[in-house]
Amino acid sequence: MNPAQYFIAINPVGLTGAAAVRYVRDVREHLTWIHRTVSGRILLNCIRRPSFPIEIRPHPTAECNAVGGAEQKAAGAAWTGVVTYTPFAFSAHGSCALLPAGQTFGRLWDEILFHELVHVFRNATGRWNTAPALSFGMRQYDDNEEFIAVLCSNIYVSDRSNRIKSGLRAGHADFSAMAPADAARFGLFMSSKAAFGLVKQFCTDNPIFTKALSDRLADVEYNPIADYYRYPKLCETLSVIGDLKDRARMIDALVAMRIPRAVAAQLIMGIP
Ligand SMILES: [Zn+2]
Repeated sequence: MNPAQYFIAINPVGLTGAAAVRYVRDVREHLTWIHRTVSGRILLNCIRRPSFPIEIRPHPTAECNAVGGAEQKAAGAAWTGVVTYTPFAFSAHGSCALLPAGQTFGRLWDEILFHELVHVFRNATGRWNTAPALSFGMRQYDDNEEFIAVLCSNIYVSDRSNRIKSGLRAGHADFSAMAPADAARFGLFMSSKAAFGLVKQFCTDNPIFTKALSDRLADVEYNPIADYYRYPKLCETLSVIGDLKDRARMIDALVAMRIPRAVAAQLIMGIP
């Protein structure tokens, strides 16, 4: 994989000699892992534009974090993509290793880089918008853009062509595992009244990217975008009711959509 084909430059700012060489080699390797997967190639192909080159450079501090977005290299200059990412922070002896046990979901090198590249993609397509409100049931995602990045990264984790992976990440607040109820089919939509509208807006914003994730990864363990495209009315109904405590009401709502009662009961009662 040649990053330059995607207008990605790896710039080891602040590093010299062997450390600089190693930085470029490591980041290139993590990009290669992303490129080997179906979802990774979809993202790289959708992000690829000569008018919006991307620079990947070390994160400015040793914290357990990385950042993705857009920047102007000088006042008045064109906006370009940027990721600040230091592989060492996410290594066995890096700052992320100080996190409590179990804080490992979505935290592998390529998973972090994929997440940040989703942020770059939203900027590249002019769709970056943290404003839409999350409901209480989605508070673990922090804001709309983090919800989108975590959602897509979880689809990347579910992608069967991605062979080495951690597991589904609960949200953006930390790196804990997603609860079984959220990981279940339609679980995202049932978790929150806001979920359907946010997924719908994302698919409206970025139809080529989301349709590709839906079409190419329709049968993976976790893909709410595929469920949205295939069963929009069902996703909307589950989201609007959005209260697992009232299962009888959810079943009635599905029956009203002409879903056989036995099927509706199995769907709702099957959620842990
Ligand atoms: Zn993020």
